[in-house]
Amino acid sequence: MSTDIQHNPEKNPAENRSNGELIRLEQVTKRFGDNTVLDNLDFSVQAGKHVTLIGPSGSGKTTILRLLMTLTKPDEGRITVDGQQLFPAPEKQIREVRKKIGMVFQQFNLFPNMTVLRNITEAPVTVLGMSKDEAEARARELLDMVGLADKCDARPTQLSGGQQQRVAIARALAMRPQVLLLDEVTSALDPELVAGVLDLLRDIARTTDITMLCVTHEMNFARDISDQVLMFDSGRVIESGTPEKIFNDPENDRTREFLSAVL
Ligand code: ADP
Repeated sequence: MSTDIQHNPEKNPAENRSNGELIRLEQVTKRFGDNTVLDNLDFSVQAGKHVTLIGPSGSGKTTILRLLMTLTKPDEGRITVDGQQLFPAPEKQIREVRKKIGMVFQQFNLFPNMTVLRNITEAPVTVLGMSKDEAEARARELLDMVGLADKCDARPTQLSGGQQQRVAIARALAMRPQVLLLDEVTSALDPELVAGVLDLLRDIARTTDITMLCVTHEMNFARDISDQVLMFDSGRVIESGTPEKIFNDPENDRTREFLSAVL
């Protein structure tokens, strides 16, 4: 599986990155009206690492993923991905840098009028210029990997939530992103479907070199896959460390309060 998914390192040499950093946010501020959602935020993610953002609802976690996806823009600050600036940057550069990033959303966001196969081939063909045959061959490999090889011709509405989320994961990976952003990807699933999707993500984390940035309320999952956990409160990182440190021996009172409410 690793060769299927991992980004071609020759095209993105590590020397392009400073200190192996793949993502860097510097002094990023984001406001919605009077609401300062991210407040002068600095953090970075090393290539190949799995970083989980935890913290109370409304603390700005999803906004960070949306900034990286360029679904919204910061008011101030700088965002760099793989040594190239994503913000501020000209539109053409933003489009190029954006190709390095894939995202899986809470609500799947599949194209309802397209088959499962077409959902996965659409962006590789239209954005990357991949041939239809190559995109389809890769989509079939990915569907096999996520356990849905027999669903190529199905429409999203014919699938369970768990199956739709597997298709969304395959769709994100089809672009061979260097970074996979996961935004509470099991929150909309029926409880019995959650474990299967988390197991798939655990496999991807274990067997590929893809960098992951996750927002999740699944603390056991966060503990399993994370190299680093960042605890957010009111748009700031108030504590960060290994999962062992954050979950077993948090230093900040707010982290302790939050964890005792969710664990
Ligand atoms: P989290 O993911 O930690 O729950 P979010 O990043 O979703 O937090 O939201 C942080 C804050 O930003 C919340 O107060 C939310 O209401 C606000 N917010 C997010 N998106 C918008 C938007 N498009 N317009 C106005 N406010 C927003």
